[in-house]
Parts: sequence; C-alpha cells; structure tokens
Amino acid sequence: MENVVIIGSGLAGLTAAIYNARANLKPVLVSGKAEGGQLMLTTAVENYPGFPEGIMGPDLIDKITRQAKRFGTRFVDGDAEKVEVEGDGFETVTSEETIKSKSVIIASGASARMLGLDSEKKYLGNGVHTCATCDSYAYGGKEVIVVGGGDSAMEESLFIAKHASKVTLVHRRDSFRASRIMQDRLSANEKIGVILNAVVQEVLGDGTRVAGVKVRDVNTDEVKELKTDAVFLAIGHVPNTKFLGGLVETDGQGFILTNKTRTKVPGLFACGDVQDPRYKQAVTAAGSGCQAAMEAERYVEALKA
Ligand code: NAP
Repeated sequence: MENVVIIGSGLAGLTAAIYNARANLKPVLVSGKAEGGQLMLTTAVENYPGFPEGIMGPDLIDKITRQAKRFGTRFVDGDAEKVEVEGDGFETVTSEETIKSKSVIIASGASARMLGLDSEKKYLGNGVHTCATCDSYAYGGKEVIVVGGGDSAMEESLFIAKHASKVTLVHRRDSFRASRIMQDRLSANEKIGVILNAVVQEVLGDGTRVAGVKVRDVNTDEVKELKTDAVFLAIGHVPNTKFLGGLVETDGQGFILTNKTRTKVPGLFACGDVQDPRYKQAVTAAGSGCQAAMEAERYVEALKA
C-alpha cells in the first residue's frame, strides 16, 4: 500500500511530488502520455517567479522533474486508466501497473479544446493543429490562421509569425480576453492580421492538405472563404477527468470541484488545471500542487492516529 499516488507530470503533479517526497511519503507519480503537461508545448515562460530572463517551458519542467526525482519520487510511465475507492484506500489502474494507495492526488491537467467540426477532425495533425511550438515549423513561408482570443492565441500567433509569411487571427467576439501586453505585441507585428466577430465554420482542402477555411461573420451571417495552409486552434482547454468516471464532482465545464484541493471523496485531492477554471497559470498550478501534497500528508498521518 503506497501512501500517495499522484496522477499527472505537469507543474502541479511535480510540485506535489516534491513536497510529498520531502515529507518521506515516497510518492508514486503516474506521468501520463503527455509527459510534462502543457508547459512542454510552450516557448518562453516570462511570468514564473525566479527567472528574470524567462525560461523555456520544457526546461522548467526538466528542472522540476529532476527536483522531484532527487527526493525519491517513483515515476510510472503511461496513463492512468481508472481510479476507484478500494476498502480504506484507492486503486489506480495504469497502462503499466495497478497501484493501491492511501491517498490520490489528481493533477491530470487539461487538453486542447476543439471546434467540433468534422472537417477539423479530418485534417487534425495534418493542417489542423493545437500547438504552435510543436507543429508550426512546417509552415515556414506559408499562410496560417489562428483561432482564439486569449493569451494562448496571441502567443501562438506571435510564435508562428516568426516563420510564416502571414498569420490571420480569427476571434468570435469584438474584444480579446488576452492580457494587454500580449495584445500590444500582437498589434505591433506587421505579419499578423485580425478578423473579429467571426467563427471558422469549415476547414477546406483536397482531403490530404488544408487549402482554406470558411469563416462566418457572427453579426451578418455572411460566409467568406479564406486561403490558408494551416489552422492552429488556441481556444482553451478541457479538463482531463474521463478516467475518473463519476468519482468526483465537476462544474458545468468539467473542472473538478475542490475545497482547498480536497474533493468530496476523503483522501482524494485535485490540483492544477484539472480543477482551475479561473487562473490556469504555471505558478498557481505549482501552488495548488503544494497545497494538495500538504493535505494528502495530513490525511495519511491522520490514518495512523
Ligand atoms: P482562454 O483564456 O480560455 O481563451 C480561450 C479563447 O478561445 C477565448 O478568447 C474564447 O473566446 C475562445 N474560444 C473558446 N471556445 C471557442 C470556440 N468554440 N470557438 C471559438 N472561440 C472559442 O484560454 P487560453 O488562451 O488558452 O489561456 C488559458 C490561461 O493560460 C489564461 O489564464 C491565460 O492568461 C494563460 N496563458 C498565459 C500566457 C502568458 O501569460 N504568456 C500564455 C498562454 C496562456 P471568448 O473570449 O469569446 O470566450
């Protein structure tokens, strides 16, 4: 029987692992296929305290992973497939092994939201993408459309504009939710154009290659075809909770409901983006990972009493 199983290897899970490992709980961390979480898909992180010049997302994850390993976290590769209450504890089924534990911390993060179009599915990974740092190199000298109006959409547009010939940002409203600094950087970039009050209605192509999109004006319903070589979606994320079945309570968007990282199930905690519809920052993920670890430690200690 392990003390604590942590599900997820993003910033929240890794921080929980550091705290639980230093408390000598010998945590087991299930990494998941998307090892390192969303920071693996970002470029420079400029708002994580302690790095005045910024740090690349994957470098930050690498440092924190080494920190978690240094204090004795056991890493299990693969995905968590199921978590169930089993007697006084939990059973976590992963693609590699089944682990029994006194407590579980869910730090499984969130995955890219899609528009829900058949044509988007058809070209996914082949002209339709959700990560500029991963996939935009293929579009050097080409035209690209980015969808979204938050910080991610700005960041992705700015990144893609480094090598694409032209970037067009399509956003469904007349104002952005992105931070001022990101909006200013966007408007200062001559390669980036903006289409407001518009939604992508269909991705067009010859079946193997994206050639354009149909864009609908939400005010006039007018539909226009735009030529493009790729579409990058930056429309937010959906929390990863499928493997939990009905074990946890969620809000209308699927985020796990928590009270100071505690879920309604004693011994089951959640931290990071899977329970955070509001802040979704690297530093808040780390902070909630620390909270969940301390709550789990108290819970495990209380079982001994
Ligand atoms: P977000 O802030 O939730 O923004 C999602 C955007 O996508 C919104 O503009 C939303 O439109 C749009 N959208 C959602 N569903 C859509 C749909 N079905 N069709 C069309 N548009 C849709 O997500 P995010 O940009 O990924 O950012 C998440 C968090 O990470 C935020 O807290 C952000 O500040 C942070 N972040 C920070 C940085 C940075 O500081 N450098 C970089 C990236 C992300 P509406 O505005 O109309 O709702």
